[in-house]
Amino acid sequence: MRVHSWMSEGSCWINGRKDTSSHRREVINPATGESIGEMPWGNEEMATRAVDAAWTAFPSWSKKLPHERGEVLKKWANAIRCHRDSLAELLSCEQGKPIAEATGELGVAADFVEWYGEEAKRVGGEILAPSRHGQQITVLYRPVGVAALITPWNYPAAMVTRKMAPALAAGCTVVIKPASDTPLIASALLSLLIEEGLPPGVANLVTGEAAMVGRTWLKDDRVRKISFTGSTDVGKELMRQSADHMKRISLELGGNAPAIVFDDADLDRVADAIVDNKFENCGQMCNGINLIYVQEPIREELERRIHRRVSRIVVGQKIEGRPQIGPLIHRKAQEKVATFVQEAIDQGARLLCGGKKLTDGMYEKGYYYEPTVLVDVNDGMALTKKEVFGPVAPILSFQSEAEVVERSNRTPYGLAAYLFTQDVHRINRVSEALDFGMVGVNGTSLSFPQAPFGGVKESGVGREGGRVGLEEFLELKTLITMLT
Ligand code: ADP
Repeated sequence: MRVHSWMSEGSCWINGRKDTSSHRREVINPATGESIGEMPWGNEEMATRAVDAAWTAFPSWSKKLPHERGEVLKKWANAIRCHRDSLAELLSCEQGKPIAEATGELGVAADFVEWYGEEAKRVGGEILAPSRHGQQITVLYRPVGVAALITPWNYPAAMVTRKMAPALAAGCTVVIKPASDTPLIASALLSLLIEEGLPPGVANLVTGEAAMVGRTWLKDDRVRKISFTGSTDVGKELMRQSADHMKRISLELGGNAPAIVFDDADLDRVADAIVDNKFENCGQMCNGINLIYVQEPIREELERRIHRRVSRIVVGQKIEGRPQIGPLIHRKAQEKVATFVQEAIDQGARLLCGGKKLTDGMYEKGYYYEPTVLVDVNDGMALTKKEVFGPVAPILSFQSEAEVVERSNRTPYGLAAYLFTQDVHRINRVSEALDFGMVGVNGTSLSFPQAPFGGVKESGVGREGGRVGLEEFLELKTLITMLT
C-alpha cells in the first residue's frame, strides 16, 4: 500500500518545527505486520521542551481575538478535507481500518475542527443581578493554560482533533502525545495545521514511552489541564498524578455498553444498527456494544437476523468488495479476544459464526479475528463484564424491563447504552433509569461535534464535543465590582 513520503516520515513538532530525535521506531501495518514508516521516539527532555514552547506561546495565543483563532481552525478543517484521500490511506495503513472507515473518520475529524472554529467566537460571559446598589457581578471565561492531551490508537485522527480543536478555540496551547501504535496520522495532522499558519509553540507533539511522557507533564506545574482518552486503569493513574497540582482533568475511559432490545422493536432496524456499531473499527470502540440483551420472545428471531448480517461481513484492509472490518491493532489484542471467546465457550456459550483467528492466505501476517456471534451467553462470563474490544457479538436473554435495567447498571462503567423499543413511555422510563452518560435510542451513532460525549462512574470525568467540550478548557473568573 502506498503512503506519501511526507507522511511516512513522521516527526515530533516543537515550537513550530520538526523535532527528530536520533531514536526512531518503526510503525507497523496491523494488516500485514510490515513496517510502513518511522517515527522519532522522544525522551523526557523533549517532553519538557514541548511544555517550554507551549508555555511561551500561551500569552499571545490566549490574547488573540477569538475569531482569529477560529480562522486558523477553519483553515485546518479545509486542509484535512483537501488531503482526505492521502490521510485516509495513511490512517488505514497505520491503524488497520478499511479505507471507507478511514475516510469517514477524517470527515468526522474535520467536522470537529470546523465546529470549534465557529464556536471559538461564541465564548462570552455573564452579568448577574446585583445584591447591593452599585454592585456589578461579571463572570468571565479564561483559557485554562497549557493543556496536555494524550490520545488512543482506535480513532487516531478524530481523537486528536476532538481534543485539540476545543483546546485551541478556548485559547489554550497544547502538548500532545499520540498512541505509540498510531503516531504518523497525528504528525501529519499537526503538519497541516502548522502549514496553515498556527503560530510556533501553540501545538507541540511528542512521542516516547507513555508513562514517562505522562509523568513529565503531570509533575510540571505549568501544565494546568490533562485530557486523556484510553483505558480506565491509566485514567485512574493520571487522575492520581494530577492531584499534586490540582490540575483540571477530562478522562474518557472504558465502557461496557449494553444494547437492550424489547419485543416491540423493529427487528430489521435493530439488527442493522447493532451490527453497524458492534463491528465498526473491528469492535475497537469505547462506546461499542459489548453485550446484547434481547427480550425472550424475540430472541431467536433477532439472533437469526444478526447472524445473517454478520456472516456477510467482508474482512480485509484493502481488497475488492469494500471490506467492512480490518484487523485488530496488534497481536496482544487478537490473543485477548480469542481468550474471551474460548472462555465463554468453555462455560456453555454457543457460536453461531466466527470464533477463530484468521491466519490463512492474505490474513496470515495480520492480526485478524473472524466476525463472531455468540449465543447462550450469561452474566457470569468474563466477556460480559470486561471490554472485549473486538468483533464479537454476545447475545443474552431477559424477561422484564426492571430486570434488564438492573443487570445493565451492575457494571462499574457508565459510558453508553442503547435501547430499542417503539413504546415512547418505555423510552422515557428506561433511558432515565440507565446509569450511563449517553443513551442511544433506536440507533447507535453517538459522536457528533455538537453533542456532549462522555461517561459516568469508571468511564470517566468530563465531556468532549459541544459547548461543554469547550468549557473543559476554560476557567471562570468572577469580578464583583462596586461602581459607586
Ligand atoms: P489501550 O489499552 O487501549 O492501548 P491505553 O490507556 O494503554 O489504552 O492507551 C491510551 C493512551 O494512553 C496511549 O497514547 C498510550 O500511549 C497512553 N498511555 C498508556 N499508559 C500511560 C501512562 N501510564 N501514562 C500516560 N499515558 C499512558
